[in-house]
Amino acid sequence: MGKIKSRKKATLAVIGGSRAYDLLGARSFGKTGKKPRTLKTPFGRSAPVRMFYGEGFDYYFMSRHGEKGYEVSAPGVNYRANVWALKKLGVERIISWSGPGAINRAMTPGMFVVPHDLIDATKNRPSNFFEGTGLGFIRMSDPFCPELRAAAVSSITTNGSICHNGGVYVCTEGPRLETPAEIRAFASWGGDLVGMTLVPEAFLARQLEMCYAAICLSTNFAEGVLPRNFKEGELFEGMMNEAEKEKVEWSLANLPAILGTFLRRISGAKRGCKCGVAMNRYRKKGLLKNPLDAAR
Ligand SMILES: [Zn+2]
Repeated sequence: MGKIKSRKKATLAVIGGSRAYDLLGARSFGKTGKKPRTLKTPFGRSAPVRMFYGEGFDYYFMSRHGEKGYEVSAPGVNYRANVWALKKLGVERIISWSGPGAINRAMTPGMFVVPHDLIDATKNRPSNFFEGTGLGFIRMSDPFCPELRAAAVSSITTNGSICHNGGVYVCTEGPRLETPAEIRAFASWGGDLVGMTLVPEAFLARQLEMCYAAICLSTNFAEGVLPRNFKEGELFEGMMNEAEKEKVEWSLANLPAILGTFLRRISGAKRGCKCGVAMNRYRKKGLLKNPLDAAR
């Protein structure tokens, strides 16, 4: 194996969810030479971002919830600063991961899901880069990039994990978990997964014409889906049993390999999707050149 050299810039980014920093030591995740840095944006400082490089890929890595553990809960993440910073660095495609709960009983804990649609049930999150302008009236027929989705699904199955190709992710405000009645309501809307992080990330990425897709690892059944006693002092207070915890850990251990495969497959592949021209209607009217300049 020859020596792998880092390039100066990358067009791919990985946004890491829970346990991001536990996983970074994995070889398939690549190496990093520089200290992380935060970027100053019109929306405040971004989360720390650093460049990684490996065999056949370079990418920026950003952790939503902090550098060491779970320091920033989902409603406290500065999504606009993070997405703006990645665009400023030249990123064209973002893959994120998250660990939502399963509303759909078929998406059992430990299984991967690459969602195809989103329901926004957040309440207090700025989700628009273009406040005070007429910009941003854009279609959401595919809220996730179809090309990144396809690469994510094939990377999961290539590495021997089970993957549901498609699912509806309902994003709640948090940090509290959902009530049983809320989960029943989300199920009646067609929701398969419930989590707290993909909104407004996915919508903001589209406003800045970046591709975005998510790899979700079903972590527990959502409240009321199965009867579970309250267990004091545990993560999710008893919503996961021991067998589910083991399955989740096994899949989590496979995540760096999955991301490595994904990054190699997508690196250098041309974008054939429509994500990069989402704002062309405004360009044609002469109202916009670079969405980054219009963001405020
Ligand atoms: Zn795309």
